[in-house]
Amino acid sequence: MEAIIIFGPQGCGKGTQAELLVKNLGIKHISTGQLLRDEISKETDLGKIAGEIINKGGLVSDEIILGIIKDFLEKNRGNTILFDGFPRNINQSIELLNILDETGAKKIKVINIDIPREESMTRLLKRAQIEKREDDNEETINKRLDIYYEQTQPILNFFKQEGIKIIDINGIGSIESIQETILNKLKE
Ligand code: ADP
Repeated sequence: MEAIIIFGPQGCGKGTQAELLVKNLGIKHISTGQLLRDEISKETDLGKIAGEIINKGGLVSDEIILGIIKDFLEKNRGNTILFDGFPRNINQSIELLNILDETGAKKIKVINIDIPREESMTRLLKRAQIEKREDDNEETINKRLDIYYEQTQPILNFFKQEGIKIIDINGIGSIESIQETILNKLKE
């Protein structure tokens, strides 16, 4: 089993690039954000708990997220997995390394797509007009970005210390050219 983590601030294009990678490489994909939004629209117990937190721009508890991840990995043993939206803090990262160790994962790669904070805001406000995601308003976006820079971005240094390869990608450019760069760098 291999693990690829797609990483970067809100609006960097992770979700779009992840979908293309799934098509181009035929790998399995888990987006914790999408999975939680599905639970919300199905009005499950999990969806009700997660919905309140997500709409305020907060992070869902590590316990819930790790439960989802373990469940997904059990069902997809032996596959290469692309993680989107996870891990999001140092604790989730430590747990992920433990879980991967247990499942005998050989390689972990991180694709770090970066854009400036102002670009995140511009893109998410634009998306808000099209998709009507309840967490896409200026106040909530700022809160999510604060959490990203305080809790999520520091994961990169943690991974570096663990000897994990980080592939840095500039998130400004066309969808196709960014995908091509990612595919080429994954081969290196
Ligand atoms: P974005 O990156 O734009 O915030 P996502 O779709 O990745 O969008 O996530 C939406 C929301 O789902 C997050 O704001 C958070 O509340 C919740 N969420 C997703 N993944 C995690 C995670 N790994 N840990 C905690 N909360 C999460």
